Amino acid sequence: MKPPTQVNHPPEVTVPADNRPVVAPIHQTVKFEFENIDETLRMLRGERPGFFYQRNSNPTLRQLELTLAQLQGREDCVVCASGVGAIANALLSLTKQGDHVLCFIETYGPTRQLIRRLLAKFGVTHTLLSIEDLAGVEGVLAHTPTRLMIFESPTNPLNRIADIAALTRLAREHGTLTLLDNTFAGLHQHGQFEVDLYLHSLTKFAAGHGDVMGGAAIGSAELITRLRPDFTLLGGVLDPHAAFLIQRGLKTYFVRYREQCASAQRVAEFLVAQPAVEDVHYPGLGAAPRAALARTQMSQFGGVVSFDLRGGAEAARRFTEALQLFAITASVGSTESLIIPPQMMGTRDLTPEQVRIAGLGPGTVRLSIGLEDPDDLLADLQQALATIG
Ligand SMILES: *Cc1c(COP(=O)(O)O)cnc(C)c1O
Repeated sequence: MKPPTQVNHPPEVTVPADNRPVVAPIHQTVKFEFENIDETLRMLRGERPGFFYQRNSNPTLRQLELTLAQLQGREDCVVCASGVGAIANALLSLTKQGDHVLCFIETYGPTRQLIRRLLAKFGVTHTLLSIEDLAGVEGVLAHTPTRLMIFESPTNPLNRIADIAALTRLAREHGTLTLLDNTFAGLHQHGQFEVDLYLHSLTKFAAGHGDVMGGAAIGSAELITRLRPDFTLLGGVLDPHAAFLIQRGLKTYFVRYREQCASAQRVAEFLVAQPAVEDVHYPGLGAAPRAALARTQMSQFGGVVSFDLRGGAEAARRFTEALQLFAITASVGSTESLIIPPQMMGTRDLTPEQVRIAGLGPGTVRLSIGLEDPDDLLADLQQALATIG
């Protein structure tokens, strides 16, 4: 073989079956081959295990899927390139022209936009309610055949708590599928409810280090088997190297989540005591609206703390820019602390009345608590509050 041939057919190194790597290798390969055509065809017909093309599956992606399904307490999972990818693929796969979808004002903006802009183009209608309007949900489900309901808990950005037992019961009574974006609560919570499909942005707490994106849909084997061919067709495949980083991130997931919850609790309690702060939105605060409901549904309350500054937008701007340890940027669940000021809340698709229902005021700020020492975070918040004092 000449060198150009050699570099394209490198020597094979096989690991003996009784000599396992402790950390699974990254299968950074798009294609897998068998010795002959018949074995390839048997695998493609599902008559034997194996892999063929990364867009369909890959061992590194599959290990991540099995880990995530286990964590959420469901049978199967399909991963893709981002959290929004998982939401978009699930919505496109599960709806058809003429279907009706129930969604909520207090959700991650792109979820609303996917339904209101993209699904609407294909003749899928929707109703937009407040997550706290159970009577409204009951009314809509009773009067309009509804294909699916998609909601969050706690919601992004204000940590509103959905009554998951009530919502899933109503949905089941009316033959409506339930999709829960469980990103804020995490992979280890809310598994006790009869949710049909859990959606996660793996970019956040799962990967945890703010250096990789991914998304997942988790549910029964039957539902994931139905979704998987559409996820494959829509093409937003997760890269094996990204899957490896997410798998690595999961090793410290419980430690990070616990520490971030503990720091977030301290930050929330600190903020409650500040005269410049009007309202603190954290489910771990006893006085928070629906805190009792949160305690029945969750054992940990997450790393996101939102609050309202009495001074409004200008105070929020000065406070945000005075912080030293909080990066002014998107995302949550990272090792470094982050802040979104009211100017960056992304409510352009909502009417002023919907913004009011969402609870977003002129001084609403969202913090994502990282893994810095909480004393340093409190000192930073204190000095930034002093600048607007
Ligand atoms: C970030 C986020 C998403 C989107 O995930 P990406 O990985 O950024 O695409 C979806 N839902 C919630 C609640 C989020 O916080």
